[in-house]
Amino acid sequence: MIIFDLVCEFDHSFEGWFKNNDEFEAQQSSGLLTCPVCNSENIVKVPSATNINLGKTKDNTGKQLDPNQQQIAIAQQVSNYIENNFEDVGPEFSETAKKIHYGEEVERNIRGTATEQETKELLEEGIEVLPIAIKKDIKLN
Ligand SMILES: [Zn+2]
Repeated sequence: MIIFDLVCEFDHSFEGWFKNNDEFEAQQSSGLLTCPVCNSENIVKVPSATNINLGKTKDNTGKQLDPNQQQIAIAQQVSNYIENNFEDVGPEFSETAKKIHYGEEVERNIRGTATEQETKELLEEGIEVLPIAIKKDIKLN
């Protein structure tokens, strides 16, 4: 059994219990998965410590991971999630974030690079940014 934190397009969050990730994906793609609050079928998975821990306490050979390796696994999953779900706009991040904020571009999740000054400007304009450092070179073994 695996617990996923789920969120719908209107930001209602709830938990879903699944046999495994395949079952989650099957339900998601066939529209069986709906938000308990608004019935939306647009549900995505949020990375959370709970499900990441459940899924990654053991390595591929079934050996128990030590807490340090679990931390690395969590960091890796979060960075994978961001890579898969956020469009990479690279150094155009600040400009694109502003265009989205002012409705000149379609609203979407973006990632990219911004200088400290650019980040400060975005925050001053009331644009939500989350500065995070992603290590590209983390390996489990
Ligand atoms: Zn909802």
